[in-house]
Amino acid sequence: MSEVEGSGASGGGGEPALDARGWSAVGRTRSHNEDSWGIDPETGLFLVADGMGGHSHGEVASRVAVEEIRRVVAEGELADGGDCAEAGGPCRTDLLEHAFRLAHRRVLAEIQADRVLGGMGTTLVAFLVGGATGTIAHVGDSRAYRLRDGELELLTQDHTWVHEQVRAGLLSEEQARVHPLKNVVTRALGGDGYLTVDVGEVELEPGDRYLLCSDGLTTVVEDAEIAERLASDEPLEAVCRGLVEAAQEQGSYDDVTVVAIRVE
Ligand code: CA
Repeated sequence: MSEVEGSGASGGGGEPALDARGWSAVGRTRSHNEDSWGIDPETGLFLVADGMGGHSHGEVASRVAVEEIRRVVAEGELADGGDCAEAGGPCRTDLLEHAFRLAHRRVLAEIQADRVLGGMGTTLVAFLVGGATGTIAHVGDSRAYRLRDGELELLTQDHTWVHEQVRAGLLSEEQARVHPLKNVVTRALGGDGYLTVDVGEVELEPGDRYLLCSDGLTTVVEDAEIAERLASDEPLEAVCRGLVEAAQEQGSYDDVTVVAIRVE
């Protein structure tokens, strides 16, 4: 029950060359895969979204959010009506934040148009590469990691109730991983109230490997195994498939999605 789709990505004009692949599989107890993902080599955009909501509505939320972010980034449309391609690199943070806001509105508009979709929402993690800079934006508990010199580093902080407790010193990371409320996200596209998007930048170095993933991976597969698999010199698609299968073998009932990016 795997879905496969892969796509290469490579920069030109002195920019670092990238190789990127993704893999996704529906959870064991589910009839629909509510995760969505995307790789846009042209714009250097990589995405993973994890939808939530009754029936198959999470699938709608994650799909429309990914579509909207791809559209806004491809058009380079900024909140003030400016054009990011003309403005150059420094606007990528603004561009992604604006894209997340429009994706949030788009999910809310879908709910307004069809009330049966009420309560649906989605997490989203996006990685946008331009030159030697990667801009990371996220909402919810889909994550971005970097593997550099054998060290795996988490680049995002989950917007979940359990991670708020970890940050307050009330739960350990290990307690959070198995907590009955571990799936409660405190921020989502389509959720209530003002949307705050976390955005940050990293400088890419040759040999870096980046991973975007839904929580179907990280609730069951330990960081040490993620690091080991990401470090492998196997073709990237096999690395992605291996990560998804490891989550399934280790008892994930959830949908599992990964997008891996190598800086050559
Ligand atoms: Ca999930």
